[in-house]
Amino acid sequence: MAVRITDLCISCDACLEECPTSSIVDADDNPTGEDYYYVDPETCSECIGDNDSPACQASCPTEDCIVWDMPFNDENREHFTSSSLYKLPEEGLGSNQPYHEEISMEDRKSGEVESEIS
Ligand code: SF4
Ligand code: SF4
Repeated sequence: MAVRITDLCISCDACLEECPTSSIVDADDNPTGEDYYYVDPETCSECIGDNDSPACQASCPTEDCIVWDMPFNDENREHFTSSSLYKLPEEGLGSNQPYHEEISMEDRKSGEVESEIS
């Protein structure tokens, strides 16, 4: 990871087909049980190799709905397994994912997302 979809999501479906890694599921399949769309951090590549910036965020009509979260890697493993925002196994997690190094950890912690990444 990662980007995260927040409760501002209006379930409009616009992001679903845009994801190059098929990491987005709709509310029916949100493993946390919340009634909005969900990004699987185990497979979200932050669109690296496919788009200059997260395609989901670019397609989303709802301001601040999709935000940065921490990179999905060994260093942040506990962040993803201990948060109620995610539903992941403590063991057998997927491999480390690429992430935009130019996005600071502070911005990620505060859940900010830039619409364009230079
Ligand atoms: S950032 Fe890219 S890979 Fe990640 S969920 Fe959004 S569209 Fe999919
Ligand atoms: S585009 Fe935004 S509002 Fe629409 S389903 Fe995706 S995250 Fe939710």
